[in-house]
Amino acid sequence: MADHPHVIVVGGGFGGLNAARALAGRPVRVTLLDRRNHHLFQPLLYQVATAALNASDIAAPLRSVLRRARNVTVLLAEVQRVELAARRLTLDRGEIDYDALILAAGAGHSYFGHEDWEAFAPSLKTLEDALEIRRRVLLAYEAAEREADGAEQQALLTFVVVGGGPTGVELAGALAEISRQTIARDFRVIDPTRARILLIEGGARVLAAFPESLSERARRSLERIGVEVRTGAIVTRVTADAVWLGSEQIRARTVLWAAGVAASPLAGTLGVPLDRAGRVPVEADLSIPGHPEVFVIGDMSVSRDPSGAPLPGLAPVAIQQGRRAADNVLRRLSGQPTLAFRYRDRGTMATIGRAAAVAVIGGVQLSGLIAWLAWLFVHILFLIGFRNRLLVLFEWAWAYVSWQRGARLITRPWRSRNSS
Ligand SMILES: Cc1cc2nc3c(=O)[nH]c(=O)nc-3n(C[C@H](O)[C@H](O)[C@H](O)COP(=O)(O)OP(=O)(O)OC[C@H]3O[C@@H](n4cnc5c(N)ncnc54)[C@H](O)[C@@H]3O)c2cc1C
Repeated sequence: MADHPHVIVVGGGFGGLNAARALAGRPVRVTLLDRRNHHLFQPLLYQVATAALNASDIAAPLRSVLRRARNVTVLLAEVQRVELAARRLTLDRGEIDYDALILAAGAGHSYFGHEDWEAFAPSLKTLEDALEIRRRVLLAYEAAEREADGAEQQALLTFVVVGGGPTGVELAGALAEISRQTIARDFRVIDPTRARILLIEGGARVLAAFPESLSERARRSLERIGVEVRTGAIVTRVTADAVWLGSEQIRARTVLWAAGVAASPLAGTLGVPLDRAGRVPVEADLSIPGHPEVFVIGDMSVSRDPSGAPLPGLAPVAIQQGRRAADNVLRRLSGQPTLAFRYRDRGTMATIGRAAAVAVIGGVQLSGLIAWLAWLFVHILFLIGFRNRLLVLFEWAWAYVSWQRGARLITRPWRSRNSS
């Protein structure tokens, strides 16, 4: 096997993991590099952030997922630079050469040039982020219970989510659910149901990628469960205890960031032109111009549908691209022409708190409970590789039926906001 071509896959997320799986058992030597040792099911991160699921429910060790793929080696490593001409990667320790490369290092959130806001308004991307958000939310209620000053208590009971895309909507909905239901009767001084939850969106409507009627339904569902939705509102400043919308100050001790996308900084080391979000524009076959041996997929890249519209940063796009890139690597190595990527859109969906969602499946618009059941089914179905899939479903269903989140409401002690 040592003389087989060496294919490196960077990133064990949706794109990279599916590329590695598609290369399993094929006549190539595959190295999967990731700076974490687990694949993360990001669509359920907010459930960890809001104490509905445990961290281990949505993460699977890459080694065990790929245990049977004898030609795939998993290495825990941070890739720092790509040298296209030398076909070499610089890692946190050492270097590694490739014959073909699939880059799938994903994306993070953009603070639009205000990186200093990150300390006050964490975003949700990793398990650590989810646990940190959970800690801040739960401790805000604890601090409010002990606070004598009325204004400070109100600031502790004000939760602001910035960004009205699916993540922001899901987070705001879940925060409302925690305050109105989960812990509603657990305090003696404060009334958690009076917590103020604001969702702030710079554009004209929430869930802008969905049809307008579903955006409107999502807004109404959010308002029904107690979320104040502010659209057309641009955040101009975030401090330790407030968010500013121009001259309007909203005092809030917990601010969560769910706006903007910035591709992995690894894209910048390629020396190719990037789009405004730092993503790599790719050819129809997902390779980069001038380097047919290098493929960039998932959130790190931008590819277009036949009408020229950019494909959205969604898990199914990354999964399908991972498979196409793997196939194109094999085709190229065997002297066959590569094939263009075609996205098969099976639908998009977002949840709004408990038992409500919006979805577009096969052109059909769904909302309310039926959309939520569809969402539940799809998310459980796609917890592929997670041995405890059924257990997660059961735990989750129990938490929903009983309104209990038990041990998951426990958190680490208070730290100053600026120390995180
Ligand atoms: C909170 C949240 C909710 C979401 N909800 C949905 C949803 O409901 N439905 C949906 O379809 N999509 C959802 N998405 C989007 C979806 O998760 C992404 O589109 C998808 O993860 C993209 O896959 P990827 O392989 O490009 O990147 P990722 O899945 O992000 O994987 C990137 C991998 O690369 C690794 N990595 C990064 N940099 C390096 C480096 N320098 N060296 C080594 N390894 C590196 C990371 O550790 C990670 O494992 C959500 C995303 C988030 C953050």
